[in-house]
Amino acid sequence: MSENSIIIDSGFDSGNIQVSAIEGASATLRIPPDYQSEFRQWFHFRVANCAGRELELKIVDCEGMSYPAGWPGYRACVSEDRAYWGRADTDYDSQAEGGTLTIRHAPAGDQVWFAYFAPYSHERHLDLVSEAAASEGVSHRILCQTLDGRALDCLDMGEGDTQVWLYARQHPGESMAEWWMEGALEMLCHPTDPVARKLRQLASFHIVPNCNPDGSFRGHLRTNAAGTNLNREWADPTVEKSPEVLAIRNAMDATGVDFAMDVHGDEAIPANFLAGFEGIPSWTDELGEQFTRYRAILDRRTPDFQTARGYPPTRPGKANLAMSTNQLAERFGACSMTLEMPFKDHDPMPDPEQGWSPERCKLLARDCLGALLEWLDRQALPDPTG
Ligand code: ZN
Repeated sequence: MSENSIIIDSGFDSGNIQVSAIEGASATLRIPPDYQSEFRQWFHFRVANCAGRELELKIVDCEGMSYPAGWPGYRACVSEDRAYWGRADTDYDSQAEGGTLTIRHAPAGDQVWFAYFAPYSHERHLDLVSEAAASEGVSHRILCQTLDGRALDCLDMGEGDTQVWLYARQHPGESMAEWWMEGALEMLCHPTDPVARKLRQLASFHIVPNCNPDGSFRGHLRTNAAGTNLNREWADPTVEKSPEVLAIRNAMDATGVDFAMDVHGDEAIPANFLAGFEGIPSWTDELGEQFTRYRAILDRRTPDFQTARGYPPTRPGKANLAMSTNQLAERFGACSMTLEMPFKDHDPMPDPEQGWSPERCKLLARDCLGALLEWLDRQALPDPTG
């Protein structure tokens, strides 16, 4: 490294990068895997000593990462104030050095931050939980201590009989999931918001804004402090490998579950979509209709949702019950779903400046809750055949 080279660091909350070489304003970088795991794709680092320079940052070996289909069409998230996250010019060459993502950016100031998606820090999480817990009619509980000694926070509110569980960030690198939670909690905890007030009359909400605080802080893509993919643990969670899932599932057993949404991000597909629970052993068309009806309501409400792109439905009887959405539909007969938001953009309604962004995550949460109120209203109607 020459004297006037840029400086790169990642020794902070959710930081993750390995510097292979720096020369002037150029760097060759690699993404380390999650601890005790093969998963890798999340990056978050700062570049300093860069004012007035044209940065060229090459992340190599990208074809060997967890989701190589995530790189074509992807643009890296960039911020100078850590509040507004835009997108940097980014190219992908699958042939160069095992797949190279090249980020070019000319920052105005002397430091600039890059991340796979706008980060959501543990400090911000604590602020979010504290503000929600201080709201009228909201109670807070800690479901368990994590392996790294963090608290697994849960917020409860509402008086209705319908049990609604919203939980996010089983996969910690999917930080868009907690931005969604911030939008949902701001709305649900608002004392005068009419949709929130009605929802809290009709339903009881149980909200886990971050199911994987250890992985989030460690800068993991997909696993907790033991290297466990939490969304493959729901059939048989253990204290040793997946205490987070065990605690959440026990809490769900205590309340029951009627409606559940598990919030995620998808690396490859450039659109918001919902995945259901096709293929569970106890599938009924009536339960399936509850899911497709919710999805249709959300599709009608916002241009930031669509139903044309998504995962193919699982064949009958083939559902993986280790995944939460399937487990909850099977275990409780719940209308259960996985919300996937893009790392790239929502292509039916693209935003050239920011792509998919924290601001849009929060707005989508409001529409998801508005759709839930419509869904509950119909659900409560007497059976016309009845
Ligand atoms: Zn995920």
